[in-house]
Amino acid sequence: MSIQGPVSEQAVAENVDVLSSTQAVVAEALQRLGMPEGMYELLKEPLRVLTVRFPVRMDDGSVQVFTGYRAQHNDAVGPTKGGIRLHPDVTEDEIKALSIWMSIKCGIANLPYGGGKGGIVCDPRQMSFAEIERLSRAYVRAISQIVGPTKDIPAPDVFSNSQNMAWMLDEYSHIREFDSPGFITGKPLVLGGSRGRERATARGVMICAEEAARLRGRTLDGARVIVQGFGNVGSYIAQAMFETGARVVGISDAYGALYDEAGLDIPDLLERRDSFGTVTKLFKQTITNKELLEKPCDILIPAAIENQITQDNAPRISADIVVEAANGPTTLTATKILADRGVLLVPDVLGNAGGVIVSYFEWVQNNQGLYWTDEEVDRRLVDSMRASFTGVYEAAHHYGVDMRLAAYIVGVRRMAESAKWRGWV
Ligand code: GLU
Repeated sequence: MSIQGPVSEQAVAENVDVLSSTQAVVAEALQRLGMPEGMYELLKEPLRVLTVRFPVRMDDGSVQVFTGYRAQHNDAVGPTKGGIRLHPDVTEDEIKALSIWMSIKCGIANLPYGGGKGGIVCDPRQMSFAEIERLSRAYVRAISQIVGPTKDIPAPDVFSNSQNMAWMLDEYSHIREFDSPGFITGKPLVLGGSRGRERATARGVMICAEEAARLRGRTLDGARVIVQGFGNVGSYIAQAMFETGARVVGISDAYGALYDEAGLDIPDLLERRDSFGTVTKLFKQTITNKELLEKPCDILIPAAIENQITQDNAPRISADIVVEAANGPTTLTATKILADRGVLLVPDVLGNAGGVIVSYFEWVQNNQGLYWTDEEVDRRLVDSMRASFTGVYEAAHHYGVDMRLAAYIVGVRRMAESAKWRGWV
């Protein structure tokens, strides 16, 4: 995913604190489920958060000390699971919130995991390949005691990819002195990665977009689509939309956006993007990310970072379907504005669950030592995403709530019930 600055200064006046807004939705979901008070006490924060500081030798011979986190939200259901992001804006609260979102995602998709999340405060765009390798290995050494194939299983996230996973796997296997492919997912295929993992999040977003369009009596063919972000997730979505026959009228990266009512040449843009998803720098006629979100389209897919759709721009979003591919791109106030305007919003915890679903498949294959075909992975992913979508949509009707709250109600249920059975609450 590429990185965007906040689109609006007014967003500051709104509650854009991801942790407290997440807690508010968790509280509401637990209340609707009739869970006891103590359940919120248990689930409002991760069970464990490890903060580490570790030195890394830079190419010029100097040593830089980096800060990293690993949060484990809840392990009542099973081991915790979630990605590691490499980004200069990473904070402890953000990682905590992201670990809660992972719990909710796993609950929606009925995976036998709780949520986890990791982050390293760094800017990999300013670092060499060798520096990123040393950073990745040092981080794993620092958190090695609390992670593992039956404890907490990391994966890629913003600015991390299969190469980071390969270094981390190698480091972990050295520390543990055995081959442990199930320690991490999102690995290269040759190291036990799963077919379809790299595109899994985008594939899941596509399935949600299809389902949402179907509810609106339409198909994706000919739909005008805007994708914000051109990284790990956004670029694959733009490509899949293009191949499906949708008209991708807008895309963006951290530095700007491109919009063309006639449709953009996505294959050409993919060819020209760099590994961090940067492409707009090559063009003179760019607009800002803020402008892009308000441009005419049928389906808007934020695939960058948090707090992009706020109370400031939500009234002017022209799409009637929004599928969140990024984590936390829409504030709670904006969620309400969109719902009141009749926009069908597929929340992040459902929209981007395809990534962790195929991570689960990867882990299952590692545990079995038996590997699946592309078709097998895809068939299972489609079934799982459709069931997740239907579960959330039906909960929205049953409880008379918006899709985000419905997703939390579905997502928190198994975890809360497991905690009860275990006698934790
Ligand atoms: N980082 C991805 C997410 O936010 C994937 C996590 C995983 O595969 O464990 O869902």
